[in-house]
Amino acid sequence: MTLIMRTADASDPGLVRSNNEDAAYAGDRLVVVADGIGGQPAGEVASEFVIRALRPLDGAPVVDPTTDLAAAVEEANRLIREAGGADPASTGMGTTVTAVLLHDDRLALAHIGDSRCYLLRDGRLHQLTRDDTLVQGLVDEGVLTPEEARRHPQRSVVTRAVQGGDLMPAVGTVAAEPGDRLLLCSDGLSDVVDDAAIGQALIAYPDRQHCVEQLIKLAHQAGAPDNVTAIVADFSRA
Ligand code: MN
Repeated sequence: MTLIMRTADASDPGLVRSNNEDAAYAGDRLVVVADGIGGQPAGEVASEFVIRALRPLDGAPVVDPTTDLAAAVEEANRLIREAGGADPASTGMGTTVTAVLLHDDRLALAHIGDSRCYLLRDGRLHQLTRDDTLVQGLVDEGVLTPEEARRHPQRSVVTRAVQGGDLMPAVGTVAAEPGDRLLLCSDGLSDVVDDAAIGQALIAYPDRQHCVEQLIKLAHQAGAPDNVTAIVADFSRA
């Protein structure tokens, strides 16, 4: 018996910004969060390119899920490069991407930037992605503690993005288990709500829709300076 994925998603501009440059896709086997950068309207265009390029993987025959995800990210990268070349207003636009494809009871991940994927398993929260940020690099080098990184004025500086240049997403696979719950989110959630509160919400709200709404609410209670996007995906036997 194969695993079934059920999802709920929510995306919100937050309390400060007038536009929402985040984009999300939650399908039968694929979930994606993309956080556009580059200002209005370029950021929104870039994150939509990611969704457009990855969506065909949902339900398509899969050869190798991580290869397929990486190829789709490269296609989004090509669309962004072409758009940037054609329109000076779009030059420099880019986006994060965090995507998970369910295939043969395995989760294939592709990731660039500072959106995140968390796995809640047996009541424990694991961050499956590593932020491509200046502060994460400084944490890795021992210059900052994780707590200092959370408050650092440059914490939103992303070191890698889908922006038309040379890139390879970080990819990997994890065996999925019944009862697993995934959270994909943009930094508008994880910058202002800490892992402990995120984990508590994932445990406290079994109903997926209530859960994503609660996560957005937690970001609002923290001031929601950025766009907030969350996808919750639950895995069960058919
Ligand atoms: Mn953001």
